[in-house]
Amino acid sequence: MIQLELARSGIASLQVKHVAEKEGVEIDFILQGLINGTIIIPANANHTNLVPCGIGKGLKTKVNANIGTSSDFCDIDAELRKLQATIDFGSDTVMDLSTGGDISAIRRAIVSASTLPVGTVPIYQASIEAIENHGAIVNMTVNEIFDVIEEQAKDGVDFMTVHCGVTQASVTRLKNQSRMTDIVSRGGAFLTGWMLHNEEENPLYQYYDRLLDLAHKYDFVLSLGDGLRPGCLSDATDRAQIEELIIIGELVERAREAGVQAMVEGPGHLPLDQVATNVQLEKSLCHGAPFYVLGPLVTDIGAGYDHITGAIGGGIAAASGADFLCYVTPTEHLSLPDVEDVKQGVIASRIAAHAGDIVKGVKGAWEWDEEMSKARKALDWESQAKLSLDPELSQQVHSKIPTTGATCSMCGKYCALAIVEKYLTRPHLASPLKGEE
Ligand code: SF4
Repeated sequence: MIQLELARSGIASLQVKHVAEKEGVEIDFILQGLINGTIIIPANANHTNLVPCGIGKGLKTKVNANIGTSSDFCDIDAELRKLQATIDFGSDTVMDLSTGGDISAIRRAIVSASTLPVGTVPIYQASIEAIENHGAIVNMTVNEIFDVIEEQAKDGVDFMTVHCGVTQASVTRLKNQSRMTDIVSRGGAFLTGWMLHNEEENPLYQYYDRLLDLAHKYDFVLSLGDGLRPGCLSDATDRAQIEELIIIGELVERAREAGVQAMVEGPGHLPLDQVATNVQLEKSLCHGAPFYVLGPLVTDIGAGYDHITGAIGGGIAAASGADFLCYVTPTEHLSLPDVEDVKQGVIASRIAAHAGDIVKGVKGAWEWDEEMSKARKALDWESQAKLSLDPELSQQVHSKIPTTGATCSMCGKYCALAIVEKYLTRPHLASPLKGEE
């Protein structure tokens, strides 16, 4: 039996037990979340070295890091180094978005080296193979799409982005309105080109039952992708985006009926005051399915710093109920990330996720901050480093400018914490700042 069916039979799998222990919640809470569809556990049985994680309501907000080759840069060793960085800096999942080189070999290397759940976007491989074999994406056959999905499932991929909501209806909605950046999702663009050229429905929508059969057979999670997500603030929350979301909501229900786990992907680019609205829309239209957002980026002008614009949106999204943040690196819109960019993206997203968890009341989140505050007050630099997201950087920065006392070089001997500690505990002293003047 697969995860969802086990839960419906009241059986706690090893994965469920592991997730419950890691999150500090009851096993029944995870089982009920799986049954309701508000929690997913991406755990393909063929991913043998997987350490499972749960995503959804009542759990710690999770972070995903995208790695993978492009047609301009393809080096398996570089991707494996990026994978290691995602693990080292605390990402919860990783997606292999490779579009260059031997895509199957790269994916297998990543899955076999990854203890994190691995996600993919199979339409990338299907489209690139169609160009290689038939000269154009539009010549891709329906069977070829599903063959790639099955190949990736056999390889142990735990969750797959499938842009099933890009339909003739949603694309017509998009055509009938004006959009600044049309379609920015690669998968959405490939499928739209194929559909318009062939005058056919999206195979991932038309043959959704076939997709459900594969997801059921290999127990991978459907990540219902937002192929029509806004690519700039001007396109945010428009009719095409919401049309796609309504369709996805219906597909979530069909997945649940088929015993398949599903989550929903979201924007993208959103003005700050639309982030919470988008989370509420998804939760309502998709019946509480876990929401996986890309960023979201709250301004379009952050090039080079988009890990920050993404973390601002991610923090608000998480606090509003988003369950899963896809990181954004400083190279977003500009280039393929390297190891350092991956690190920056993971850390920025983890800050956003944690900031959301404090507001959500996730177990241990508030306490973590309290521990850091105590260490700060005590000028305990070792504990502060240990409690930070990047202990090595914390230590390096603290020792950059040598100090004579226990304080840091920011205020030196005028350290507010040290002064107040000295005099607040001895209130009889008349002139608190005398010794420091
Ligand atoms: S020196 Fe200033 S910045 Fe450093 S610990 Fe003391 S109050 Fe904080």
